[in-house]
Amino acid sequence: MDWPIIEKSGDFAVPPYLTDWEAARAAFDWQTEIDRLSKLPGGGLNLAVEAVDRHVAEGRGETVAMRWISRNQDSRRELTYAQLKEQTDRFAAALRHLGLKRGDTVAVMLNNLAELPIAALGTIKAGCVFCPLFAAFGPEPVRARLILGRARLLVTTEALYLRKIADLREDLTELDHVLLIGGSGQPPQGCLDFQATLNAASPEDGTVEATSPDDPAMLHFTSGTTGEPKGALHPQRSAAGIHATARMVLDLRPGDIFWCTADTGWVTGSIYKLLAPLLAGATGILYEGEFDPGAWYGVLRNEKVTVWYTTPTAVRMLMRFGAALPRTYRPLSLRLAFSVGEPLNPEAVIWARDALGLPFHDTWWQTETGCIALANFAVTTIKPGSMGRPVPGFEVALVERRPEGGLRFIEDAGIPGEIALKAGWPSMFSDYIGAHTRYEECFIDGWYLTGDLAKRDADGYFWFLGRADDVIKASGHLIGPFEVESALMDHPAVAEAGVIGKPDPVAHERVKAYVSLSHGFAAGEALRRELIAFARLRLGSALAPKELVFIDELPKTRSGKIMRRVLKARELGLPTGDLSGMDSDIRGTGV
Ligand code: ATP
Ligand code: MG
Repeated sequence: MDWPIIEKSGDFAVPPYLTDWEAARAAFDWQTEIDRLSKLPGGGLNLAVEAVDRHVAEGRGETVAMRWISRNQDSRRELTYAQLKEQTDRFAAALRHLGLKRGDTVAVMLNNLAELPIAALGTIKAGCVFCPLFAAFGPEPVRARLILGRARLLVTTEALYLRKIADLREDLTELDHVLLIGGSGQPPQGCLDFQATLNAASPEDGTVEATSPDDPAMLHFTSGTTGEPKGALHPQRSAAGIHATARMVLDLRPGDIFWCTADTGWVTGSIYKLLAPLLAGATGILYEGEFDPGAWYGVLRNEKVTVWYTTPTAVRMLMRFGAALPRTYRPLSLRLAFSVGEPLNPEAVIWARDALGLPFHDTWWQTETGCIALANFAVTTIKPGSMGRPVPGFEVALVERRPEGGLRFIEDAGIPGEIALKAGWPSMFSDYIGAHTRYEECFIDGWYLTGDLAKRDADGYFWFLGRADDVIKASGHLIGPFEVESALMDHPAVAEAGVIGKPDPVAHERVKAYVSLSHGFAAGEALRRELIAFARLRLGSALAPKELVFIDELPKTRSGKIMRRVLKARELGLPTGDLSGMDSDIRGTGV
């Protein structure tokens, strides 16, 4: 089925770059953005100063910067910009007092706790490198990342420390300090109490470090969807990319209540949950609870969220519970909803328009890009199923790597190619920590190659095909798993689908689908046949799955990405590789 495009209407008081994408691209210049933010003595730029101190200096100190909401939504804590400035000054002073120097790594392993923005922004203010760690990691992935990131200080909770770190402390020779939140008030040996350390610090010592735009500010490990996670470093000048996309894509402004549901351990958690609302002068929501449909709709309604950023997996889980539930929570205050992390099937975009009253805008980016690079903009036409068009400032091409070296640029609409970004945007990663050669290999002739395949249509919209590693080659066709998954998900019985290429002596590969069912549907031979026939009708026999099996849950990363490599490895009876980023709840389920 061809999904209708969604023309934007309504009253958007927006600057022209949102309505006139061509004009915005022509007028936009990253260097101007960076220069505007480089206000520290000697042309220095500090992300935390831009995100917090600037608002206080400009008279917005009493605005709420972050609102924390407890799991049951029965308690909340608010930090104004003025309070966040004071607390981050203290944290920066404490780091200095403990002997940390500019460039040292501070790892932060917390769930959605109110202290998170203090630790993250205080670290950056001190010129240290903020490295979020996923709280559901087991001891081994934590050890590997602390060592690779050369963390000198760790902020975590007492419970997490005792469970995951205490036994490995001896191996962590570079980890000098651990600051603990909560617990007995009597920190274990070798640890300090976070609050007591903050109280004892004198902010006068914590004058901002006049970092340069190129100094490292953050270290993010990738999701590990395709293999071992990589540690991408992001410089202070990332502020320009995050700020520009907060305005141009998310349309965030002072007065907005912004909720990004990403886990704190991954890049979207720091870039969009913490930094984007702060750089835009809005109020960010930090909700402690995990996914739960009623609780999430409750947060949207009770907190009067105006802009929402979530993932396709979350949207599809909400869809499983039906459209009647969100209707009971309306009216909502939402004016925009966005998605990232996985391809967003068109049905989900349309479902939201009916169930929530507004469609989802898909956005595309990677840990390495440091900010959104492709988007369905707030006030331009949404094409359901498309990732949208380049953010002004980004030059995005589709390319083919020539076997003899160099790139061939694909200009024609509808021809698949690898997404490549012209190097040099401000939030581009500056290195893979401990793997510089691998970093260099990502670039060809001044272009960064993303490893994702897409097509572009005549209007310049990009359509995701799959990761280069996941694309299926069957009987001379190049098949993007997303297209097949998306068609299957149009069937009411299908909640989610994961599609892989299974080696085949004749066709090279054959399309195999793993399907999880919506509530109220039972697996069985008749349904299996029906789904194959349904897909064949939509996709034609070349693309439709030849094999289809039912599965309770697809293997996914905790950030919600389907791990097709795990499906494939299990299919082939091969080792599944690094699973450290995989959702522990479903790690054990066979397929
Ligand atoms: P690793 O690099 O370790 O394999 P990862 O690529 O999943 O893990 P991230 O940087 O968190 O780690 O994810 C970025 C990837 O997520 C993109 O390269 C792309 O494959 C996928 N992605 C993100 N947004 C979208 C989107 N809107 N549509 C389709 N895919 C998306
Ligand atoms: Mg990746």
